[in-house]
Amino acid sequence: MADEIEKSEEEWRAQLTDEQFRVTREKGTERAFTGTYTDNKEPGLYRCVCCSAELFRSDEKFDSGSGWPSFFDSPHAKNLRTETDVSFGMRRTEVMCDKCGAHLGHVFEDGPKPTGLRYCINSASLDFDKK
Ligand code: FE
Repeated sequence: MADEIEKSEEEWRAQLTDEQFRVTREKGTERAFTGTYTDNKEPGLYRCVCCSAELFRSDEKFDSGSGWPSFFDSPHAKNLRTETDVSFGMRRTEVMCDKCGAHLGHVFEDGPKPTGLRYCINSASLDFDKK
């Protein structure tokens, strides 16, 4: 599906830090345990750093031990797009912002109940609104 929000590379570069650009627009991955929100336990809402779409909540965040913010579900699934990613010799499911196409991370099927899902998301893709 086409992105609702389209900007040029120059516009994204002007808006984002280098790390945010590398992760969201170039499908990069921040180094484990280095992101701002990995251990964030404050109640609130996680938005897309590129377009502010609502993506995840503290209510579904859990400590996966992976080194990245992890969520077992999202009430904003309509803002999430998934695609099969076969890069690096692995078969994974990539998670993107459906509004602007930002790369967020991947979703795995080894999460906790009740969903069994683990959305493994880069802090660099997120903004946080403390409740
Ligand atoms: Fe977005």
